[in-house]
Amino acid sequence: MKILLNNTSLFKILRPFNDLGFVPTMGGIHKGHLSLINKSNKFCKKTIVSIFVNPKQFDNKMDLNSYPQNIKKDLKILKKYKKIDFVYMPKFNDIYKDKNKPKIKLHKKDKILCAKFRKGHFEGVLDVMDKLTKIVNPQKIFMGEKDYQQLYLVKKLLERKYKTKVIPCKTIRNKNNVALSSRNFLLNKSNLNIAANIYKKLANIKKNITKKKNISDFLESQKKELKNNYKIKIDYLELRNENNLKISRSKKNSRLFIAYYLNNVRLIDNL
Ligand code: AMP
Repeated sequence: MKILLNNTSLFKILRPFNDLGFVPTMGGIHKGHLSLINKSNKFCKKTIVSIFVNPKQFDNKMDLNSYPQNIKKDLKILKKYKKIDFVYMPKFNDIYKDKNKPKIKLHKKDKILCAKFRKGHFEGVLDVMDKLTKIVNPQKIFMGEKDYQQLYLVKKLLERKYKTKVIPCKTIRNKNNVALSSRNFLLNKSNLNIAANIYKKLANIKKNITKKKNISDFLESQKKELKNNYKIKIDYLELRNENNLKISRSKKNSRLFIAYYLNNVRLIDNL
C-alpha cells in the first residue's frame, strides 16, 4: 500500500494504470468504507482510496471541527485490510490550487432533502468530486447508497463530464441495523441504542406505507411521533423515488429518507 501525499507523486505513480477503482472518503474508516474497497477490488485491477476532509462541503464550522479524524488509525485499518494499492492524502492546496469559488450550482429541483437543510453542502461535494476525478482519473468510483442523494448527484455530474462510471454500493449496517458512519464515533452506547430503535421504527413505517391513502399526512404524523418518543430533531422524513428523487405516492422504486440529530450529531439514512 503506497501512500501518496501530493499530486506530483500521484501523477507519476498512477500514470501506468488504466483500470483504476477509486474510493473517496473523509477518513474515520469503518466497515462501510471497506465494503466499497472490496467491490473496487473485484471490479478493478488497482484500488486507490483517498482521505480528505473537504472543508468546503461543511455548512457549519463546529461540524467540521468535530468531524472524527484519526489518520494513524485509518492507515492501520487500511494496511491490515490488504486490498488497497494506493492511499491518496492530498493537502488543501493539492485540491484547491485556484482560489475560485465552486462554479457548480445545484438545479432548483435538486434543492431537496439534505440540499435544502445544508446550504452549499452539495456544491462543495460536487466541486471536490469533480476535482478529485480530474486528478485521479479512475475508470470507476465506488460510492455508498447510505449517502443516496450524494451518490445520485455525483453520478449525474461525473458521468456527464467524464468516462468514469460511478458504482453504487449497498449500505453496511451494524448488528442492530444502524447504518455505519464516521459520525457514529461521536455517539455513545445509549445514543446507538436509540439509533437502532429509530431504524426499527423506520422499517415499520416503510412496511405500513402501502396501507395509507395519504402518505405525506402519514409521514408527518410519524415524524411527530419519532420526535416526541426519542427527543430528536428531524430535518426530513420523506418517501422519494430512487430514480429521480421526486416525492413518491407509492412504495414502488421508493426509499424512505431521514435526516435527524442525535446528541447534536446529524445522521442520515434511507431504506
Ligand atoms: P465518507 O467518508 O462518510 O465521506 O464516506 C465515503 C464513502 O463511503 C461514501 O461514498 C459513502 O456513501 C460511503 N459510506 C459511508 N458509510 C457507508 C455505509 N454504512 N455503507 C456503505 N457505504 C458507506
